[in-house]
Amino acid sequence: MEDCIFCRIIKGEIPSTKVFEDEISYAFRDINPQAPVHILIVPKEHVGSVAELTQEHEAKVGRIFTNIAKIAKEEGLESGFRVISNTGADAGQTVPHLHFHILGGKSMGEGLVP
Ligand code: 5GP
Ligand code: ZN
Repeated sequence: MEDCIFCRIIKGEIPSTKVFEDEISYAFRDINPQAPVHILIVPKEHVGSVAELTQEHEAKVGRIFTNIAKIAKEEGLESGFRVISNTGADAGQTVPHLHFHILGGKSMGEGLVP
């Protein structure tokens, strides 16, 4: 996916502030943070969104969530954090490469949808 922003970030063609990387995933700080800690974690393989996941992705998605737990610990998010994956137009997905937002560092209250 040559014109995918996140594929280009993974390849290092677009600079990013790396937080974590392993063989299957890359995590970096969101360019427009919505909370004191706002990190995106993406699979290195291009997958469009949660809606495109199939059984073959299960191990990678599982690993991504283990990595989210590690990152949250390293970022000091013991008091809580939120994981969001906007999927499709109604959810406001703007980058069509699967990504999980990790948001924390402030109290976000109980509501899910503003
Ligand atoms: P979405 O709206 O698709 O759920 O989230 C896309 C996120 O990617 C947004 O929070 C946006 O700020 C972030 N983003 C878009 N382009 C870039 C970029 O070039 N670098 C970084 N670090 N974040 C980006
Ligand atoms: Zn991509």
